[in-house]
Amino acid sequence: MKIDPEEFQVQPGTKVDLDKWATRMKPFYKSEKGYKELLAADVGELSDLQKLLYASNSHSLLLIFQAMDAAGKDGVIGHVLTGINPQGCEVHGFKQPSVEESQHDFLWRTTCRLAVRGKICVFNRSYYEEVLVVRVHPKSLGKEGVSEVIRPKDSFWKERFRSIVELERHLDTNNTRVLKFFLHLSKDEQRKRFLKRIDEPDKNWKFSEADIAERELWDAYMKAYEHCLGATSTKAAPWHVVPADDKLNARLIVSRIVIEALRNLKMSYPLMTLERRAELQEIRKKLAT
Ligand code: ATP
Ligand code: MG
Repeated sequence: MKIDPEEFQVQPGTKVDLDKWATRMKPFYKSEKGYKELLAADVGELSDLQKLLYASNSHSLLLIFQAMDAAGKDGVIGHVLTGINPQGCEVHGFKQPSVEESQHDFLWRTTCRLAVRGKICVFNRSYYEEVLVVRVHPKSLGKEGVSEVIRPKDSFWKERFRSIVELERHLDTNNTRVLKFFLHLSKDEQRKRFLKRIDEPDKNWKFSEADIAERELWDAYMKAYEHCLGATSTKAAPWHVVPADDKLNARLIVSRIVIEALRNLKMSYPLMTLERRAELQEIRKKLAT
């Protein structure tokens, strides 16, 4: 299976038109069995790479997932990271900010969740909500102390993009590899998934009227995503637009991109010096007697 991460990357400085990005493509698997085998192989490799990440203690990895409702963020996170030692991975979800969180600058609540070196950190939603849902509902800026700005000008969002790009550049120079994924779902596929949530009793709990209200604002969300992806995809922290109408294929694409990025970190297990090996032999002798 050859998946080229570049194919899904938003090139820095380009304008994004999401209609031109596929929500479905020819799948990388041939059957459900084939999918399971491919994913299992990736999960095994990811687990090995995470061990190396931990042992080399030089880098961390930040994976950011953004999408419309029902695009499959939870499924991607669950299936792709399933083989990783739970001690090597942290997942944080970001919903509506609490009063305390809104009292801080808009990056605070997420940056204080960043992982230590050696770990994989996943953000299920992130500070990007501050230029997406907040852009679609600018009134919520009132909670953030910018109440006089009812309809903020483009320059307001540009400043936010700049803060984000600078943060991610800082993370990159300090050995946190940042990879961002937009799970690109079509409006029709979202409709089908919502219908399933209503029709299948064991999925009823997933259904929320609030999701329908956001769906009505689909075009405004797509515009906000287009601005955001174009302004914040950088070499240090690239955005990937992942066709998400096929959940299984989306998982394979994400796992390959993560594997590729970890391989490129060129990590290695700590080298033992001759002195250290001699010390270990001394300790061994004592233990053996
Ligand atoms: P799921 O639906 O799979 O449980 P979810 O991430 O959609 O996952 P919800 O509780 O349904 O979780 O929704 C969280 C909501 O919080 C989303 O609509 C999101 O846009 C919103 N949200 C996240 N961050 C912010 C923010 N900074 N300001 C305002 N709303 C936010
Ligand atoms: Mg939701």
